[in-house]
Amino acid sequence: CGIVGYIGQKDTQEVLIEGLKKLEYRGYDSAGIAVFTNQGLQIAKAKGRIANLESKLEEAPLVGSAGIGHTRWATHGKPSDVNSHPHTDNSHKFSVVHNGIVENYLDLKDELIEQGHHFVSETDTEVISHLIAREYEGDIVKAVQKAITHMRGAFALGVLTEYEPDKLVAVRQASPLIIGIGEGENFIGSDIPAILQYTRNVYILNDGEMAVLTKDSVELMTIEGNFISREMIHVDWDA
Ligand code: GLU
Repeated sequence: CGIVGYIGQKDTQEVLIEGLKKLEYRGYDSAGIAVFTNQGLQIAKAKGRIANLESKLEEAPLVGSAGIGHTRWATHGKPSDVNSHPHTDNSHKFSVVHNGIVENYLDLKDELIEQGHHFVSETDTEVISHLIAREYEGDIVKAVQKAITHMRGAFALGVLTEYEPDKLVAVRQASPLIIGIGEGENFIGSDIPAILQYTRNVYILNDGEMAVLTKDSVELMTIEGNFISREMIHVDWDA
């Protein structure tokens, strides 16, 4: 339902939670974040209001320099802690937030189970993290591009891997996603209000496009891997 992502020097957990609160108006049944900490990629998620997630984080804060967050509106699998996003794979090296629906997820799930993957949730989204893990050969951008070729449906994605902690990958295919450009930091969001308190400079992704963010750069390309240039929009309204 709502996606936010951050890479930079600020308190990542706080940026993600603030962003998720701005997306609350879209409606949701659960929320979660994944952050690169010095213990690796760590995930906190909770059914219900963002306050439930915040009280989990109060007990065990996630400190790091990149992260992704999600508010979920369940389409496949009931609202529950385990069905909440972010989702991961069996190695716990990849983390994914997803808006939309992977229509052929049951076929993909069967195939992945046959190949030895174990699933913990009932969601369509979990197949995405397993697919990316399966396709990974040292380049997260290529792995995401390959994974997408197997997926049908609508999706906006935020993807992190512990193998490349300096990168945040975003994809838009029939579900909105924008990129926020900062100084020494960059953002992704389902819509502009999610990031407006941090930057007013944005790129709007079109369907079939993706972005690779580091804290100092944003590369835009088609999901086939052709680089594109896009005019930056300066937002002069307030949320
Ligand atoms: N289909 C996914 C799920 O049910 C994502 C739903 C959403 O867009 O929030 O988990």
